[in-house]
Amino acid sequence: MLVMKFGGTSVGAVEQIHSAAKIVESARNSRPIVILSAMAGVTDALLNAGEAAVQGRTRDRDDKLWEIRSKHDRAINDLFKERRVAAEVQEVLRPIWEEMQKVFTGVSLLREMSTRSRDLIGSFGERLIVPIFARYLKTVGVEAEAVDARDLIITSDDADFMLVDFDETRKRCTRLQKMSKAGTVPVVTGFICSTPDGVTMTLGRGSSDYSATIIGSSVKAVEIQIWTDVDGVMTADPRIVPSARVLERVSYREAAEMSYFGAKVLHPKTIIPAVDENIPIRIKNTFNPGFPGTLISSDTPVHQYSVKTVTSITGLTLVSVEGRGMIGVPGVAGRVFTTTADGRVSVLMFSQGSSEQHISLVVGRQDGEPAVKALRREFQHEIEKRRVDRVSSVPEVAIIALVGEGMKGVPGVAARAFNVLGESGVNIMMIAQGSSELNLSFVVKQKDAPRAVQLLHDAFELGRA
Ligand code: ADP
Ligand code: ASP
Ligand code: MG
Repeated sequence: MLVMKFGGTSVGAVEQIHSAAKIVESARNSRPIVILSAMAGVTDALLNAGEAAVQGRTRDRDDKLWEIRSKHDRAINDLFKERRVAAEVQEVLRPIWEEMQKVFTGVSLLREMSTRSRDLIGSFGERLIVPIFARYLKTVGVEAEAVDARDLIITSDDADFMLVDFDETRKRCTRLQKMSKAGTVPVVTGFICSTPDGVTMTLGRGSSDYSATIIGSSVKAVEIQIWTDVDGVMTADPRIVPSARVLERVSYREAAEMSYFGAKVLHPKTIIPAVDENIPIRIKNTFNPGFPGTLISSDTPVHQYSVKTVTSITGLTLVSVEGRGMIGVPGVAGRVFTTTADGRVSVLMFSQGSSEQHISLVVGRQDGEPAVKALRREFQHEIEKRRVDRVSSVPEVAIIALVGEGMKGVPGVAARAFNVLGESGVNIMMIAQGSSELNLSFVVKQKDAPRAVQLLHDAFELGRA
């Protein structure tokens, strides 16, 4: 069995849906299971409509919902020339539109959107496209059936520390194996899942890639293909570095590090289930299907490059706890982490100066202020006693990361990186190196991030094959 996941742009409009269907059709003999994201822009539009409802902007809410409705209606009318079939598809979607109406009315009345409501609101995009695509496959001669992943992927119900119940999920995925054996292509919603009690949840923004590997590992697929809008995993984000090059092969560990440090082409959790079952992942371009793409597997490809890719994450805040009185005092780092954990703040990067005079953390923009407040409360006593001088924050920073298995044991990578940035006046605010030596990451001002990425890409000649 082969898992084929199509991202938002790959089902974003009728022409793309045609291409995606053709790709599935040509893989028919490999018994594909299809996973879909919502049509491009739909998840954002849904969540914006939710925000508008919370803020009482009913007009904006309705405009967004109208936009979503017409996008799908247009797709249905263009895909199904036979009126009877178009009406049939509309009939299948009717309960979903009705449910949406109710949910948004509810949010408007309550003027609040809990995590659960947000997940339910976000779920509609995938739930709408899947029946359309499945029915379209039938019209091109591929027997297919829509499957709601809430019946397959089961998670714990703690939105902050959500865990997939892989045993239960595997059991439920046998249904896909049966369908596939009977010659039907299952077309499954990405992104969404459910608690054991049937509460709708999502796996996080951009997580349909993760849905694909959860399902792929559950059915022990021979390969998991991620179909997107670029030729493969590249040496940098092509939107930042136009000369970025497609990598033929990437190891699981490299892919995991890159996605953690901002390579949007893969959701950060994508690799985990595939590693467990040793299933190769292939990144392919829906708009250029003949191109071989990138193969991600357990093999560490031999290459002459030490650094393979440079990535960045923006929209972050650097939080620091500083004070000479912290030297040699045990437990300070522990208290910092306990405080952030209690506040459900996720820490992306951490460093402690060897002089123990400061501890720095990088957190998401939305977590910056709450983290500072919580840390000031936690260290109030030390601040009063002058053992801690200050808890401060710098907003609008970015993490830049260099990743590559070949970096291990190669001296001078950091020196070269810091020289290049220093010469160009890019100030480095914090540095960390993973103990695996697979990555070197550092923090710069957000406004310097694109230039830093470009400079490093040039300095390590990543664009050269
Ligand atoms: P999809 O909707 O198919 O999931 P995404 O937009 O989530 O697609 O991911 C694909 C995008 O990721 C590309 O269009 C590209 O701009 C971006 N990207 C960022 N870093 C990289 C990288 N290192 N290699 C390839 N693409 C990258
Ligand atoms: N549609 C979801 C999102 O926009 C999931 C995905 O695209 O992977 O976050
Ligand atoms: Mg994506």
